[in-house]
Amino acid sequence: MDLSDTPEQAEYRAKVRSWLEDNKSQAPTVVGDRIEPEVVDARRAWQRKLAEGELVGITWPTEYGGQGLGPLEQVIANQEIGRAGVPGIFDIIGVGMLGPTIIAHGSEEQKHRYLGPMLHGDEVWCQLFSEPAAGSDLAGIQARSRQQDDGSWRVSGQKVWTTNAQFASFGLMMTRSDPDVPKHKGLTMFVVPMDAPGVTIRPLRQISGDAHFNEVFFDDVALEPGSEVGPVGGGWGVGMTTLMFERVTIGLGGEGFGWRSDRFAAAIGGDEEARRDPEVRRRLGHIASQFLALRFTGYRTLTALQRGQTPGPEGALGKITTVNAAIEAGELLADALGPDALEDDEWAGLISELPGIKTAGGTEEILRSMVGERVLGLPPEPRLDKGIPFSELRSKEVAAA
Ligand SMILES: Cc1cc2nc3c(=O)[nH]c(=O)nc-3n(C[C@H](O)[C@H](O)[C@H](O)COP(=O)(O)OP(=O)(O)OC[C@H]3O[C@@H](n4cnc5c(N)ncnc54)[C@H](O)[C@@H]3O)c2cc1C
Repeated sequence: MDLSDTPEQAEYRAKVRSWLEDNKSQAPTVVGDRIEPEVVDARRAWQRKLAEGELVGITWPTEYGGQGLGPLEQVIANQEIGRAGVPGIFDIIGVGMLGPTIIAHGSEEQKHRYLGPMLHGDEVWCQLFSEPAAGSDLAGIQARSRQQDDGSWRVSGQKVWTTNAQFASFGLMMTRSDPDVPKHKGLTMFVVPMDAPGVTIRPLRQISGDAHFNEVFFDDVALEPGSEVGPVGGGWGVGMTTLMFERVTIGLGGEGFGWRSDRFAAAIGGDEEARRDPEVRRRLGHIASQFLALRFTGYRTLTALQRGQTPGPEGALGKITTVNAAIEAGELLADALGPDALEDDEWAGLISELPGIKTAGGTEEILRSMVGERVLGLPPEPRLDKGIPFSELRSKEVAAA
């Protein structure tokens, strides 16, 4: 039992721990963020197993295959998965962000068709929002959707930085359906089958040699009537829901991702010289205190979620602090262990790829401006376009919603 657990939570924790104890021998031994086909297959099979163990979609309604529990149970499960040393779910984007968006805005048909296979890892999803000229200024999206006389749609344009597009069965795609209205009013969201004729996926290779994300091109792709998620022209509101879940997933996900100071300490502890170095100890202490602060700040966010409240703009600090603490940990491991740190796939990923997460889900500059304006009440940034205040651009939208 964790010191802060209520008796019910302690009972839930014991149940999760016991299931993991019984089943962890079936977990893949992979660590880090590797994406070779055999690793992806093993991770998806393990996600299916976790789903059978009622450890995926914990907060989802039971009618869509979830457990109908609260965010605290989700955190307990994340903590226990981290403690058992097994990987968590593979499709974090689908289960953490896109599934909840479909639950909030999708039709009943979409919920029944897509949520079950997503939860079991049978169909992986990707987020088709960013474009070459629409990142922070998400409302600048140019990919076009046009409705045909029979109610079907045609979609053309380019997306970029699309994580997991190469394994995805479906994408949730933000498009411009009406160029003649103020830009955040003319957007519509769609479910797009990634194997549809006219979809081309090109990998973008990173410093690590892996290609986690892609450019995706849409050349007059035909979509069936009813592929829209939420109302036509209501894509901005649907996208806001996704981005709220994105920020909470990254901000509260640190422990589930395995970013824990005890693990960093253990990695460094094997090196006698590093273990005794006062500077290494000071830096480790700083990292540990940030993760501890995050844990308690995260509890406040969870309490708000548990009460059915939408997390406020202060939640952006969780994302900023989590990512910066993990980057600091990667730098410390690299300094303390030297090139040996790169021998471990997980630490190699932390060192080389984490700086990119500063940008994902809203850049640090954008999020800091949001906290400045909406939490600290500082004067607003200049408007970047004629219609949308800075505070409603990508990753600030939650506060405005
Ligand atoms: C690891 C990773 C995974 C990703 N996965 C996905 C995905 O699956 N799907 C998807 O749709 N997108 C994805 N993205 C894209 C991500 O959402 C965008 O990179 C992000 O929104 C920033 O947009 P941009 O890259 O166009 O940068 P820009 O918006 O062009 O920003 C460039 C720089 O300018 C700064 N800047 C811009 N505007 C302002 C301003 N008003 N005030 C101050 N500074 C400003 C930014 O902070 C940044 O430093 C991913 C990105 C990363 C790094």
